[in-house]
This record gives sequence, C-alpha cells and structure tokens, in this order.
Amino acid sequence: MQTAPAHQSDKSRIARSFADVGSVVMAIEPSYPVFCLRPRVLEAAARRFMTLFPGTVLYAVKCNPHPMVLDVLYRAGIRHFDTASLPEIAQVHEAYPRGHAYFMHPVKGRAVIKNAYTVYGIRHYVVDHASELDKVLEETGGENLVIIVRLHTPPVEAALYHLAAKFGAQPDQAVELLRAAQARGCDTGLAFHVGSQCRDPSVYRKALALCGEVIARAGADPVCLDVGGGFPVTYANMEVPPLEDYMDEIRAGLKEIALKPTVEVFAEPGRVLVAEACSLLVQVQLRKDDQLYINDGIYGSLSEMAQVDLRMPARLIRLGGGASETARAFVLNGPTCDSLDVLPGTFELPEDVREGDWIEIGQVGAYSYALATRFNGFYPETFVEVDDAPPAQTA
Ligand SMILES: *Cc1c(COP(=O)(O)O)cnc(C)c1O
Repeated sequence: MQTAPAHQSDKSRIARSFADVGSVVMAIEPSYPVFCLRPRVLEAAARRFMTLFPGTVLYAVKCNPHPMVLDVLYRAGIRHFDTASLPEIAQVHEAYPRGHAYFMHPVKGRAVIKNAYTVYGIRHYVVDHASELDKVLEETGGENLVIIVRLHTPPVEAALYHLAAKFGAQPDQAVELLRAAQARGCDTGLAFHVGSQCRDPSVYRKALALCGEVIARAGADPVCLDVGGGFPVTYANMEVPPLEDYMDEIRAGLKEIALKPTVEVFAEPGRVLVAEACSLLVQVQLRKDDQLYINDGIYGSLSEMAQVDLRMPARLIRLGGGASETARAFVLNGPTCDSLDVLPGTFELPEDVREGDWIEIGQVGAYSYALATRFNGFYPETFVEVDDAPPAQTA
C-alpha cells in the first residue's frame, strides 16, 4: 500500500492504492462510501477511444471531474478537455501544463468569457444564438477565435437524455451564425450532441449529414467539426453496440460530407471513458427483512439511477468472507430522510446480508461523484485506487 504524496492530502484526495477492494475493506473498514478507481481500466478506455476515433479526443470534464480521474486520463494521453465553466477551465489549466480547455457551453456569463479569454487564453467557444456570438465577440475583442456553432439534432429514442432539448441552433439559424462568425473574422466550426448513452450508432452519421448541409448552405469553411459525446456503456439492464460500430458510422458520415482534410474532428466522450473505471463501496447500516439501509443513495453518488433506468452490478464483501451462496433480491435504501431516497429495482445479494457488510456497486464512474449533493449532511467524496477487476456485468 502506498500513501498519498503530500500535495494530495486534502480530504477529497486521500489517494491510496490497494491491490483490490477486499484490501480497502480490511484496511479502512469504511463506514462512509468510498469510490474505488481502477486506473488501469480508465487508461485502457481512454487509449481505446483515442485509437479508434479519427480525430482529437476531448474529455467531457463534467462527467467526473475528480482530480485523480483527470490525472489518469492525462497520463493516458488525453490533452484536450470539454469544459463548461471557469472552475473546470481553471482545473485543467492549473493541473496540466499541456492541457487545452475548450469552452463548450452555449450560454456563458460575460465576466466568465472575459476571464476564459484573458486569463486562460481559451480560443474555442460554442454558441447557439446570435446574442451569444455578440457577447463572445464583445468580451474577447474577437481576435483569434474559433466560434463553434452548436447544432440542434432531432431527439433520439435510443439515448437516455436529449441533450439538444435545451441547446442547439436550428439549421437555418446555424447557417446564419456560421456566416456571421465568418464575416467577423472568426474561424468557425460545428458541434452537436446526440444525447448521452446513445444506443443507436447510425444517429451520428445522420447528424453529420445535417452538418454537411448546414456547412454547404452557409458557404462556410470550418476548421473543426465536433461529434460530441453520447457513446454508451453496458449496464446490468442494458447491452450496447460495440464502440467500433459508432466509429464506422462516424467515418462513413465524415466521408459523405467530404470536408477538407485540414478540418479537425473532435469528440467529447464522458461516460464511455469513466463509467466502468469506478465502483462504489457502501456499507449496510441496517437490515429489515429484504430492505437494506446503506450509506449512499440518490442524493449522493447514485442519483443517475433515479433519473434514468440504469441498473448497476453489485457484489457483497464481508470481512473474513463466509456469506451465503444463496442469493435473494434486496431493496437498497439511501441514507437521507427523504422517502424518495430508494434505489430503483432490486439487487441480488447473498440471503444472509447483515449490518456491517459492504456492497460494491459497479459502473458508477460517470455522473456519480459529479452529481452528489450535501443533502442531510451526507457527501461522498473519498476516492481510493484499486487494481482488481470491476464487478461483473450481467446484461
Ligand atoms: C455532457 C456532455 C458531453 C459528455 O457526454 P457523454 O454522454 O457523457 O459522453 C459531451 N459534450 C457536451 C457538450 C456535453 O454537455
């Protein structure tokens, strides 16, 4: 076991490495939730995506901004980051000398734009409205900018979230925005996001075709084209097509719109890089028949389970072992006093689960830590590193 370097000593970075999750339980016997980060899994996911994607990979920081996660991604070779706020930009800029942040939020405060440009030297800004374009030009002075127009794409049934519901210019507006940005001397680009956990690879090709139409109509000469995130991972209740299928569709889509070879292609993956790389170790605080009361829930690390229908694999860990071989379905209740704080569905666990046992929940690297609240005084923020295999997927 290694102890943390001095600079990682603040509470959110009790960076300790363990051979496996069992060793974490033995060493800490944690009564609070612990994220178990698997650096090798994370590095492999990042390298795989970078190998397969025909362009530049920007990690979507919002998906899991923990410094230990970003450190591993940087070590794996990720140098570009999709950021949406000044704190995210600062985090990238200050921790990673060769990291580049891109300002991908279509609605930004004036002071934030000014700071992003003057303090951090950010060149790339997403806009989806003429007023936002004006704002960016006014606050930066308009020199040396790449204005990326976020294009609205139709809702996709196979995606868990419709990320174009709130943002994105309709094709007519996007044409106008590209022309306006170009007329004011900016380099231009186009971006879209098909929705997170998108299970239909063909959606990317269709979105690229729409980009091609908009570019042609605008007579634009873009320097970049951004296919966004949305690449899915397997959950206990959800099989997904292989990443290769997505890349095939993207390649085909790019070929069909025949961009100049100098156009830089971006992707902004979040979930697909980090989901599998973190599990969550929770403790059973009380058992009432088939009801287990655990120390994390929908206001903490597991809020995504309550928002969309995602089920995670889970396994029991008991100090000294010896749990029953017979499984039974249990309901997991979160720690807050809100009666909504119950995880959907049931979890198959040994029938003799008891107070003090731990449960390791897998596939929780994405939109978990990032979404946790401090409701009722519970705030999960402890990360450790482990090197064993993540809990098995059963989909
Ligand atoms: C959230 C987000 C992403 C990451 O999406 P995933 O589905 O996690 O891959 C990428 N780009 C933008 C603009 C986003 O808002």
